[in-house]
Amino acid sequence: MAPKFHPTPLSGGDRKALSKELTKARAMTKILAERAAEKRAAGEALIREADDFACQSWNERMWADGGPIDPSPTIDQAINGGYAWLEIRCSRCKTPRSVDLAALPHAATTCVHDLSSRLRCLKCARAGKRPPAELHQLAPPRRRYPGEDE
Ligand SMILES: [Zn+2]
Repeated sequence: MAPKFHPTPLSGGDRKALSKELTKARAMTKILAERAAEKRAAGEALIREADDFACQSWNERMWADGGPIDPSPTIDQAINGGYAWLEIRCSRCKTPRSVDLAALPHAATTCVHDLSSRLRCLKCARAGKRPPAELHQLAPPRRRYPGEDE
């Protein structure tokens, strides 16, 4: 892109004023961009904190009363809040399982409670059953060992 052309003022005073304004505008470009980045980072940290609290709130309700599962955070909120795992249990055979939320294909609007009817127990599927999953807790990622089952 060609540099923007500013017509040179006739008077020396005006030329000096123009030069000063240009210097100031170029300095402000950088300062304002930095301020935008700072505010964005602070905002993202606050959103992460809100997502964390939303997950904790859901966990407390599930622990205390076992439901209702709706409302729940979205999958993206859970991951952003540091709770990338969902602990579930098959409602039929009671087999527990931890599900990696980040590995699930999902839309941005999918909520954790929407997964109840979508997550299938493999054991029961082999027996030709499709029982819904009981949702238990959202959990932070945990360390896994080779060969460990999901
Ligand atoms: Zn089952």
